[in-house]
Amino acid sequence: MPTITLRLELHKPTKAKQDMYERMTEVNTAFANWLLNHPELNQATSKLFKEFSSQRFPSAVVNQTIREVKAQKKKQKAKKFRTFWCCFNNQNVKVEKKGAFYTVSFPTLEKRIGVPVVARPYQEAWLNRLLDGTAKQGAAKLYKKRKKWCLAIAITFDVKPRHETKVMGVDLGLRYIAVASVGTKSWFFKGNQCAFVRRRYAALRRTLGKAKKLQMIRKIGRKESRWMKDQNHKISRQIVNVALANGVGVIRMEELTGIRKRATSAKEAGRSLHSWAFHQLQTMIAYKAEMAGIRVEWVNPTYTSQTCKCGHREKANRNGICFRCQRCGYTLHADLNGAINIAKAISGFAS
Ligand SMILES: [Zn+2]
Repeated sequence: MPTITLRLELHKPTKAKQDMYERMTEVNTAFANWLLNHPELNQATSKLFKEFSSQRFPSAVVNQTIREVKAQKKKQKAKKFRTFWCCFNNQNVKVEKKGAFYTVSFPTLEKRIGVPVVARPYQEAWLNRLLDGTAKQGAAKLYKKRKKWCLAIAITFDVKPRHETKVMGVDLGLRYIAVASVGTKSWFFKGNQCAFVRRRYAALRRTLGKAKKLQMIRKIGRKESRWMKDQNHKISRQIVNVALANGVGVIRMEELTGIRKRATSAKEAGRSLHSWAFHQLQTMIAYKAEMAGIRVEWVNPTYTSQTCKCGHREKANRNGICFRCQRCGYTLHADLNGAINIAKAISGFAS
């Protein structure tokens, strides 16, 4: 069952409410850090909060915090939490519609309160689905972003699988962001991603000599990564729309290896940047496909770019954007050849 997160901005909370949310977050963060070092964390129940503090605090939040801190500790991920937002399970958050407005209610330091939210049209559609029961509400988190208080609500829903059986292969590249192939049809998706990647790559190469460590993700400015995300959203939407319009029931993509945090050479830095952008695009395609009832399959990338339709495989078959079979002479755009091979899953499925 697919899950989405609905991020709702609380509509103009009063100063008193904002202060209360702030206070709740402070107490919860302190409690989480206290819990992290508690010798009996594993046996912790909501009663443990009394040991931490004598003030009133919603037990619904306490329970969620205990659950989450246990999980984090098990993964040995956290040493100290900077901010631990208050979370509520599905039974403690209620969405309602009052006239033209939607409200959410959740437990706080005072009484349980219902507050109006700012809902954009696509969000209203999801809220309506929660109200009519066609989607299910999960846990929620009260957090602040850019000085605005928001409630993030997890929503799960059923998707009817499509009866269509055609398979689409999607290959990602630098000249074209993506090339899609269904049977004998193909689509080339072009964006400015390539220019972006090349520019960053050049800049990195210049600074590499001085920098001891290259931390790719940090180097990509916020603005640029937002821009890239927007691009990837558009391309992934287009790809899934093409799939829907062409009777596709399955989308296949290459399983790319994980992104490396630290690159050791300019060449690797470039690759790492590509994989970061590609991974984001793949994730978006997969997610939008799943929402539309299209199955996503991951194939082994080993020989997709070097194999001809005649079956001959050789590294020399591919030369940049050109594919030319050394045995039968068949020629094609290399990325399209890749997409066709991905659709056929010639190297098998990724495990
Ligand atoms: Zn051939």
